Amino acid sequence: MILPILLYGDPMLETVSAPVDENAKEDINRLISDMFETMHKANGVGLAAVQVGVPLRLFVIEAHLERENFHLRGAFINPVIKESGDLVKYPEGCLSVPGLAGNVERPSVIEIEYLDENWVLQKKKLDGYSARIIQHEYDHLEGKVYVEKLDTIWKKAMEKPIQQIKNREIKPDYLWK
Ligand code: ZN
Repeated sequence: MILPILLYGDPMLETVSAPVDENAKEDINRLISDMFETMHKANGVGLAAVQVGVPLRLFVIEAHLERENFHLRGAFINPVIKESGDLVKYPEGCLSVPGLAGNVERPSVIEIEYLDENWVLQKKKLDGYSARIIQHEYDHLEGKVYVEKLDTIWKKAMEKPIQQIKNREIKPDYLWK
């Protein structure tokens, strides 16, 4: 089932998400499936539960870069991350801020522990694009959206369109609410 995606400015996106209850596996499995379907429909590479109005610590990712032979796919339940490494700038976009992208600086390496979609505990050390997408999604669980972390030049350049999204002057289509 495709779920409506909340646009930037919706107060729900500022919510700090609560841990997923492992006794609610059936409901969560359905939510994960709906989130993948919604993300695919919206052509996104990552989606946090809070973006579809469910403030639980969970996100899904599916990203492929053929030319770099890069593939990352999975659900990340109750993730805990530790960041390290040099700060690097890289462009990000977000399904809650459709049509825009801008540079954000983040640490290059993460260690992550999470339950996957089979509820198996995973521990990984990741860098590059994987670390970047996960950090972006993890921020959603903390009630943060990447546009608040844009560097000064991008913040200035994107000020107007971001405001238009906030004011709902830009509302892409039925997918968003
Ligand atoms: Zn996002």
